[in-house]
Amino acid sequence: EVQFGAASKANVKVVVRVRPLNEREAENRERHVVKVVDERMLIFDPKPEEEDFFFKGIRQRTRDLNKRQPKEQKFMFERIFDVDSTNEQIYEETTKDLVDTILAGYNCSVFAYGATGAGKTFTMLGKLESPGITFLTLMELYRRIDEIKEEKTCEVGVSYLEVYNETVRDLLQPGKLLNVQENGLQVLVPGLSLHKPDNADKLLEMLAYGNQNRTQHPTDANAESSRSHAVFQIFVRQQPRISDLKSNVCIAKLSMIDLAGSERGAATGFKGARFREGASINKSLLALGNCINALADGLHHVPYRNSKLTRLLKDSIGGNCRSIMIAAVSPAVASYEDTFNTLRYANRAKTI
Ligand code: ADP
Ligand code: MG
Repeated sequence: EVQFGAASKANVKVVVRVRPLNEREAENRERHVVKVVDERMLIFDPKPEEEDFFFKGIRQRTRDLNKRQPKEQKFMFERIFDVDSTNEQIYEETTKDLVDTILAGYNCSVFAYGATGAGKTFTMLGKLESPGITFLTLMELYRRIDEIKEEKTCEVGVSYLEVYNETVRDLLQPGKLLNVQENGLQVLVPGLSLHKPDNADKLLEMLAYGNQNRTQHPTDANAESSRSHAVFQIFVRQQPRISDLKSNVCIAKLSMIDLAGSERGAATGFKGARFREGASINKSLLALGNCINALADGLHHVPYRNSKLTRLLKDSIGGNCRSIMIAAVSPAVASYEDTFNTLRYANRAKTI
């Protein structure tokens, strides 16, 4: 059952995922700057606990002595996933439900937001041994379509593109530059390649291939940082078997977006191409934030036109669409500013 209309205010769900410390951070015994209190509340920059001093010893203490008072700021979200959560769990509690919405004919979008290294790609794409939520959601969609195949014919097509410096490229046919066009309420990308992977392995291959084609640059902050927004789209076309009326054709799409790293320009250099990139990343992340904030506040004017990314997703956020934002954060001290900025961005995106 899907509810829309006047309730469109509530159609943006914001969750947070905290990744575990990596090996290096764990070896350094870094203090956690995020403490997950329960499924709905976390504390940013909590007071160190007594046993931390006791067990972690001198190294920890000297570091903290030079430090200012902890912020101890509380944040509330619809759901907070702590370091031990799995992609399967995130999928179960976020995107699984979207399959119903898609089959009911409404567009949906899912965003992974956060700084480089915070866990966006791990969540969306995953690893071979733990596929991300894009794969898990699409598998569920195939299962559901199989269940209703007696009543309806369903066709599924997928495409994968990136928005980089305000240009759009096909990730499955690299080299192709694309335009975004509007046709009434619909957004079209003429020439974008559409694919029909016929089994799970093909789909995984396609995701990995597209991801590999993303524009990446070694920036000062992180050699693997992604400077582009990767948009994976799943198109579903349904038609009842008993009717031959064209008007009964129902088309909807699901967009899964691995956003560019949200870190500040300062961390990645202020000169030349890197700076232009940084500026255009910030422009689209800012534009996206402004659109989601406008929707969350129930405003009538949503500023979609301010960036390529928001123009592309105009038909997939707001209105009758459902959106989920997954804010990925690192608990390591080294990511203090990034984590705080991500939590604030996510906090503003919540429905008031
Ligand atoms: P981003 O895409 O936000 O830049 P990644 O998803 O690439 O970050 O994550 C950075 C590193 O941390 C990767 O090596 C990834 O495998 C690892 N990682 C991220 N999230 C998790 C997690 N929840 N559990 C285990 N490893 C993770
Ligand atoms: Mg990434």
